[in-house]
Amino acid sequence: MTDPGMKCSRCRQPAQHRFPQHNVRFCHACLELFFQRQVEKAIRKFAMLEPGQPVLVAISGGKDSLSLWQVLHDLGYQTEGLHLALDLGPFSQASLEASQAMAQRLGLPLHLASLGDLAGCTVQEVVWANRRQFCSVCGTLKRHYMNRLTAELGFATLATGHNLDDEAGRLLGNMIHGHSEHLARQWPVLESTPGGFARKVKPLCRLGGPEIKAYAQVRGLPVAEGKCPRSKGATLTYYQEAMALLDQRMPGTKRDFYLGFLRSKGAPPPPQPLEGRCQACGSPTLAGTCTVCRLLERTGQWRQEKALERQRDLEAGLLATE
Ligand code: AMP
Ligand code: ZN
Repeated sequence: MTDPGMKCSRCRQPAQHRFPQHNVRFCHACLELFFQRQVEKAIRKFAMLEPGQPVLVAISGGKDSLSLWQVLHDLGYQTEGLHLALDLGPFSQASLEASQAMAQRLGLPLHLASLGDLAGCTVQEVVWANRRQFCSVCGTLKRHYMNRLTAELGFATLATGHNLDDEAGRLLGNMIHGHSEHLARQWPVLESTPGGFARKVKPLCRLGGPEIKAYAQVRGLPVAEGKCPRSKGATLTYYQEAMALLDQRMPGTKRDFYLGFLRSKGAPPPPQPLEGRCQACGSPTLAGTCTVCRLLERTGQWRQEKALERQRDLEAGLLATE
C-alpha cells in the first residue's frame, strides 16, 4: 500500500501510510493528528459529547474500541471502560486481557461483567433454544446488558467503537431490504429514551478499518488479534464485503455513501418515551415482556425439556439393560 519516497500530504516528510479513500498519505505523527481530527469532527458535527464529559466506553478488546478509548482520553473526556466477557474460549480470553491491558495503560477503571452470569445461561443455550443466529443473539444480549450497566454505573452516555465499515455495511443492508424503520433511526447518536435506554454515540463513524488499524499500531495499543470464531456467516459481513469491493474499485465510495446518507437525511426526531415496562426485568418495551426476557424464558423451558429428555433416555437405557 505504500511506496518508498512517498511524502506526507500534510508535512511533506516521508510517509508510511496511504489512504486512497481520503486521497492522502501520512507520516505517523500526521496520521495520529488526522485520526484525532476525524473523531473531533464527528463529535462536534453530531453533538455527541460536551467537552470533558464523563463517558462510558464499551471495550471489546479489538482495535476499534481500544483506539476509541485512547482518543477520547487524549481529547480530555472523563472515561471509564466496560467489558462484557463472553466466555467463548481463547478469543474471549484474549479480548478480556486486551481490555484489561488497555485500562492499565490509561490508568482508568474497567468495569467487568460476564454475559453468561448476567443472563443466567450461555449464549449458545439461548441460540439452541430459540433457533436464532449466534451473532444476532449475542448482539441482542450485549446491547441489553450494556444499556442496563450504563445506567447502573451512573453514566448518561455510552460510546461504542462502531466504525465507518460497520455503519456503511448496515446502511447497505437496510437499504437493500427496505428496512425503513431502521433507516429512519440510523444515526451516529442514539438519544436516550426517557426512562429507558441509555444514550449511545459512535465517534469513529467517519473512520474505516485501515485508518483505525494504522492508528492502533502507531500508538502501540494492546489489541486482541483475531476474529470472533462465531462471527462466520453473519450477514453484516457480506454487506461490508460488498462495500469494501466498491471502495477498492472506487476509493471514497463508502464514505460518500454513508456520510451522504446522513447529510441528506438529517438527525432523527428524539425518541418517544416508552410507557411499557417489561414485566420480568423492567426495561422499556412495547410488548409485555422484552425481547431478551422472552429469549431467556424460552431458554429456561428448553433446559427443562432437555433435562426431561435426558431423564427419559436414562430410564430407557436402564430398562433396556434389565
Ligand atoms: P461489534 O458489534 O463486535 O463490531 O462491536 C461494536 C462495538 O461494540 C465495539 O467497538 C465495542 O465498543 C462494543 N462491544 C462489542 N463487544 C463488546 C464486549 N464484549 N464488551 C464491551 N463492548 C463491546
Ligand atoms: Zn506528516
